[in-house]
Amino acid sequence: MKNILIGLLTISFFSCIKEPVYDVNILDVNRIDMETGYIENVNIYINQDRIALIQNTHSKEFKAKETIDAKGAFAIPGLWDNHIHFRGGASLLKDNEMFLEQLINNGITSVRDAGGDLTSIIKDWQVEISKNERVGPTIFTSGPKIDGKNPTWQGSLEVESEAELDQALDSLEKLKVNFVKLYDSKLNGNLFLSALKKSKTRGLITSGHMPFSVTLNQALDAGMNGVEHLYYILKGSSKDELEITKQFQRGTLGFWQAMPLLINSYNDTTANRLFSKMKKHEVFVIPTLHIGNTLSYLDEIDHSTDEYLNLLSARFKSTYERRIKSALNSTPETRANRKNLNAFFRKLTLKLHESGVQLMAGSDAGAYNAYVYPGPSLHKELESLVAVGLSPLEALKTSVINGPKWLGVEEDYGAIGIGKKADILLLKKNPLINIKNTTSIQAVIKNGRYVKKN
Ligand SMILES: [Zn+2]
Repeated sequence: MKNILIGLLTISFFSCIKEPVYDVNILDVNRIDMETGYIENVNIYINQDRIALIQNTHSKEFKAKETIDAKGAFAIPGLWDNHIHFRGGASLLKDNEMFLEQLINNGITSVRDAGGDLTSIIKDWQVEISKNERVGPTIFTSGPKIDGKNPTWQGSLEVESEAELDQALDSLEKLKVNFVKLYDSKLNGNLFLSALKKSKTRGLITSGHMPFSVTLNQALDAGMNGVEHLYYILKGSSKDELEITKQFQRGTLGFWQAMPLLINSYNDTTANRLFSKMKKHEVFVIPTLHIGNTLSYLDEIDHSTDEYLNLLSARFKSTYERRIKSALNSTPETRANRKNLNAFFRKLTLKLHESGVQLMAGSDAGAYNAYVYPGPSLHKELESLVAVGLSPLEALKTSVINGPKWLGVEEDYGAIGIGKKADILLLKKNPLINIKNTTSIQAVIKNGRYVKKN
């Protein structure tokens, strides 16, 4: 009798516990483990902007306010474009706003903005996107670049003394930027090294271009955390780096003139020493291969029928002219050098990867960078990384794992796991079989919200 009573009480107790109802469930999806490539058939449950539960499909199914039947689809974390630019001033604002939607449409749920002149607007976007008042990726930004007087890029902080450098870093800290971007159009080499050291003291991470008046070793010793593009890696891999640096300091050698010399003096021993130091210091490299390919072949490849051009304003497209003209007006020798350099960079990327240096996939898309379109170009970057020798899984890691790792936000991102941000890309085809399948997008879930179908 007593046992029956306990039994009845137990049954009524459990029937009183309400079954949870999640905000979103994604049923019957092939989740890809981004570390191992292991694929498991699961149900994913989301509450607000986080993944709340993941269970295999044999487990009891829970209800949700919104159900996504994902049978046959593959789930990976939303992609990261780890080098883009929102820029071009107020007159290009509409184009830049359109990019936010295009990035999401292309499965890119986070971006690293590597410096521009729209910082205050980006700050507004960050808030609106986090509140789901605007469709767009999570934006991590450097704010304005640090450069010297009369720099190439509008909006840069012009630094010509230690005092100005301190002020610039103060203002970046006030803006709560995610990293400090250094640029080499006019920045003095000593101030560049000082900027690296001072940023480190302040707990800020740094990346950028490096003035050729310093050596890559000096930059690493000063604490540089990220190297954008491969010119600086090439410089550090030359057995003649010191001599070339001196010529640069004397003004007897220019940046582009130095490239063939650097290629000819590339040395495996020098490079290996450098790469193991970079690996040890956890310095990440952003190879930006797709823009390299695109700009190196502007003289041969006709982009006039690119569909994306229809989305861009005439004013935006006019920002492409500078690079197009310089490519078309260049001498046959310059064109050949450019292509040669591009080919060398592809080999260098594989060497870096094989040496254990961590890479980040970034497209460099934005105004002025001709035909490198925000959204599609990250997929092209992934394709390029596979073309040079990375596996599709390794290429994907450079986007979705290394991006958050470099910024120190890997707790929230980098996997489809419990507690992670619910930024998920559903693909119709397996991207580990063919990296081009990252474009077979079925749906994008951003901040736990289903934002795009087909
Ligand atoms: Zn850039």
